[in-house]
Amino acid sequence: ARAEARQREEARRRDVLVGRVTGGALAGLLLVAVLLFLLLRAQRRHAAELRLQALRDPLTGIDNRRAFLQHAGSLLPPRAEAPSPVLMLIDVDHFKRINDTAGHPQGDRVLVLVSAFLCEAVGDQGRVSRIGGEEFAVLCPRLEGDAAMRLAETLRTGVASLPLPAQAGPGSVTASIGVAVFDALRHRDVDDWMRAADAALYAAKSSGRDRAVAATTTD
Ligand code: GH3
Ligand code: MG
Ligand code: MG
Repeated sequence: ARAEARQREEARRRDVLVGRVTGGALAGLLLVAVLLFLLLRAQRRHAAELRLQALRDPLTGIDNRRAFLQHAGSLLPPRAEAPSPVLMLIDVDHFKRINDTAGHPQGDRVLVLVSAFLCEAVGDQGRVSRIGGEEFAVLCPRLEGDAAMRLAETLRTGVASLPLPAQAGPGSVTASIGVAVFDALRHRDVDDWMRAADAALYAAKSSGRDRAVAATTTD
């Protein structure tokens, strides 16, 4: 009877041991699964953050040139009779002077102010990006009739009346704007469309700055 009791006791201990080992292994597995889940989630968030950073201008927080090009490509009308999107290229006038007289950090502040104003003024009519140092672009999916030039004028006068910080130097900041409605007959792609807006911007610069000029049919 004693031998039997010992055997039972040994069997019980074995069961307890097996139970503990199994429990431990399960807990370990669970821990590994939880850790893997957390790791994957952190990695996915990091990748999403990187994707966002690749498309965002760090100074102003708006779309950068890469995001602009993607968005412009997505707006090309699929058919000639579809509504035409509008592109505005906006270049701050004599910006180098602001940097030279007030310093680069003040220049940066002015760019942030201009960017915030453009975003607010454009609102849900389109999307604003910073595509170069002191160059911004506005893409509007559709603006009927002369609404594009009206919006461009609103942007131009708004920039010219922006209250600047005293440290940015005396006077105001102005911008020149080139406006190009996408024309399926003349523009094959975003490059053609940008060239037309750029030619209009150049015309605005060379005719005195602080003005909005529409692309002509020869642009
Ligand atoms: P224009 O009226 O012909 O456009 O004259 P501009 O002086 O605005 O043009 P220009 O191309 O001669 O000079 C642009 C200046 O913008 C030069 C450059 O130092 C400045 N710039 C470019 N990126 C930045 C930036 O991120 N921050 C600041 N503060 N300045 C910048
Ligand atoms: Mg420029
Ligand atoms: Mg400029």
